[in-house]
Amino acid sequence: MDLNNYITNVPDFPKEGIQFKDITPLIGDNEAFRFAINEMASFARAKGAEVIVGPDARGFIFGTPIAYALNLGFVPVRKPGKLPRETFEKTYDLEYGSNTLAIHKTEITPGQKIVIADDLLATGGTIDATIDLLSELGAEVVGCVFLIELDFLKGRDKLKDIPVKSLLHY
Ligand code: AMP
Repeated sequence: MDLNNYITNVPDFPKEGIQFKDITPLIGDNEAFRFAINEMASFARAKGAEVIVGPDARGFIFGTPIAYALNLGFVPVRKPGKLPRETFEKTYDLEYGSNTLAIHKTEITPGQKIVIADDLLATGGTIDATIDLLSELGAEVVGCVFLIELDFLKGRDKLKDIPVKSLLHY
């Protein structure tokens, strides 16, 4: 299946100069969505994931079904003010704007093997911040999996030695 057929390019969204990759046609199609999740889940399984982590908000769309498919738990990394218990927080730059992410301090046990899932790897800022939060918890990030990677932004370089898989490259 060619997943490229389910991604729509939206020029100048949310800002001029940004070519937004709209994933909603893909997740709205039962076969494309299932195919993508199965591919992402097989990478997470091969890396020995014990927990799937996904950043707010599109990381939830991909991370939770991957966790379900592998019979694992899912831990959300959220925008500030959303998680009710004590959190670690990290602020970072985006391709457009900046963002802060938070994780509950007690959700993950030290040494647990984590695969992070998200819709798209752009500059890598989101995933880098997520990795920082997980390292504060003593977790081991064994892989990162994305539906889409924007190769020209070189986000992968930020992730150093962590194995990365993306189903689509632009
Ligand atoms: P980054 O932190 O730069 O890797 O960006 C990560 C997040 O921003 C991704 O999870 C996407 O949800 C969103 N994002 C960044 N650039 C784009 C883009 N060109 N099209 C769609 N989403 C984007």
